[in-house]
Amino acid sequence: MSIIQIKSLTKIYPVGNEKVTALDNISLEMEKGKIYCLLGTSGSGKSTLLNMMAGLEKPTKGQIIIKNSHIEKMNENQLARFRQKNIGFVFQSYNLLPAFTALENVTLPLIFKKIPKRIREKRAKEMLCAVGLKDRIKHTPAQMSGGQQQRVSIARAFVNNPDIIFADEPTGNLDTKTTLEMMDLITKISKENNQTLIIVTHDLEISEYADVIIHIRDGKVDSIEQVNKKMIEKI
Ligand code: ADP
Ligand code: MG
Repeated sequence: MSIIQIKSLTKIYPVGNEKVTALDNISLEMEKGKIYCLLGTSGSGKSTLLNMMAGLEKPTKGQIIIKNSHIEKMNENQLARFRQKNIGFVFQSYNLLPAFTALENVTLPLIFKKIPKRIREKRAKEMLCAVGLKDRIKHTPAQMSGGQQQRVSIARAFVNNPDIIFADEPTGNLDTKTTLEMMDLITKISKENNQTLIIVTHDLEISEYADVIIHIRDGKVDSIEQVNKKMIEKI
């Protein structure tokens, strides 16, 4: 059974008197526990597709069904609740709250769940340890490197144990070594927890972490490639 189904999804933006077709009749299915990469050049429609799946934008036409719920039919309250329960986000720009410590940032997704403070902090601390930030718990984002900030945002994305994690160019601001560390980390955690991870990137090297590469071109699915991990290891 697919955890995500996308049916005939189209997104057209009006720009002045013109129309930009960002997504052109996309249909896709994604399975639980797998890692997907949306791979394509800048402007191909990757972020639009991800935002649509997260209910951050409404489609012009088509359907998005996640865990049997129609995302495109939900109102803002329903969407907010659905995201809190089911979805974690990792952004290129980390999107941490600057006045909050690492611990407070990671605790945030648990506050909505009415979990007692002591348990929230315990879970957030465990998650920060898991991403290698045991000794940065009290630091604010400005007191950490880019890689450390992205580790905090990874801890925040996973702390709720969501079924789905969306990552839009998660390593876009990081150097090569840190990029590979982050990719190892998010793919390891998502596999351990049987979560569905969807990574948006234009970087071929990053796409090799996926089980399935979905090539996006001009708002369409160009091809779908099953990655043979053993082949890559041999090379
Ligand atoms: P990618 O993430 O692959 O770089 P995007 O999904 O951001 O691409 O954009 C796809 C296309 O849609 C681009 O041509 C972009 O200019 C256009 N687009 C994206 N968002 C908007 C918007 N809010 N208004 C108008 N055009 C947009
Ligand atoms: Mg983008």
